[in-house]
Amino acid sequence: MKEKDTWSRELRTEDMLVQTKNPKVLPKTAAEISNGGLYQQAVRCGKSGCRCALGDLHQGYFYFIRRINGHLRKTYIPKPQVALVGRLVEEARRLRRAEHEAKRSSRRLLSELREKLREHEPTIRTLAEALKQND
Ligand SMILES: [Zn+2]
Repeated sequence: MKEKDTWSRELRTEDMLVQTKNPKVLPKTAAEISNGGLYQQAVRCGKSGCRCALGDLHQGYFYFIRRINGHLRKTYIPKPQVALVGRLVEEARRLRRAEHEAKRSSRRLLSELREKLREHEPTIRTLAEALKQND
């Protein structure tokens, strides 16, 4: 049963998981990954009499799990593609961090600029007044 699946430490919410069957949704580039990660899941195959029915789950199944419209979606990653998707996920994280940093630093620059402008406002006003009187 799905609720008995063992998730890696990082993932705790299993309730909203919906498996996406369409393999086309696999990301091809880091830019396509706006959130989510690669997770390993131990699974039950469902065959009666298999060791997994007694709790000795099959290991080594990887899924790409991300949030779409508030729901977690998981896509099975075939073994030959695990390394590639792992690299894309890492690259996407780096991109998101860099974007976050860039936004923070431009906000900081903008606020410094506003502060400087406020600082020089009296001088600018005085100059403007002087110019007006010279007309
Ligand atoms: Zn089994």
